[in-house]
Amino acid sequence: MAEPKYAESDYIMISALQHVAVCPRQCALIHSERFWEDNRWSAEGELLHERVDKGGEEKRGDLITARSVRLNHPELGITGIADMVEFRKWSPQSADSPQEEEVMRTTTELPHRRGRWIPCPVEYKRGKSKLEDWDRVQLCAQAFCLESMFEIRIDRAALWYDTTKSREWVTLDEALREKTISLIHQAHELLDSDVTPPPVYDRRRCSACSLYETCRPRDYDSSRLEKYHRSLFEIRENEDSNTDTKK
Ligand code: SF4
Repeated sequence: MAEPKYAESDYIMISALQHVAVCPRQCALIHSERFWEDNRWSAEGELLHERVDKGGEEKRGDLITARSVRLNHPELGITGIADMVEFRKWSPQSADSPQEEEVMRTTTELPHRRGRWIPCPVEYKRGKSKLEDWDRVQLCAQAFCLESMFEIRIDRAALWYDTTKSREWVTLDEALREKTISLIHQAHELLDSDVTPPPVYDRRRCSACSLYETCRPRDYDSSRLEKYHRSLFEIRENEDSNTDTKK
């Protein structure tokens, strides 16, 4: 097995991927500076997760449902909790089960259970399906963790939206996987730098942001923006001189 790339203390939360995609400043404020403020949207999200986060496992026929499952991926340096992971028993008779040659690649054994099982993360979300891939990226990162834990490939996962009370199936194709990996790298880079980017005001995005009052994006003064650009320049210079010293 490959060596873990990240120490546990350097893992980032899977939720940081959505934050970095929406606004890098929001990501740094929450995950580096530890700011979090509830607004109506975040409070509704918390309530929804409280209902789901009861933990435990139940079995109904050929379906096992595990709630609040702790996830890690040492090589990608991500961690989080899946609202729910379903394990459906593989059966050669079932029309949507993988074909025989795919079974070992896409199914896993489970302790104290007979047969082979197909894991599927299911994430509960407020609102309805979104045009942007933010929820799908988070789900894909959860699938990466399960793939690493069980050493298999997961081809699809699901989002459940409380407004529409419906499940959206998500195909974990190469495009979504690449986007997720790119956001993981982006979040690591941002949080490793310990630099909080300045705000970029966007009415739609900022009006829904729970950190609006802390961030005050419209009052941000340009001298702080200059200071930020200088700090980025200093980081690059330090990195270059470290590389030169190593040569
Ligand atoms: S208010 Fe706007 S700029 Fe500030 S953190 Fe939120 S989304 Fe980003």
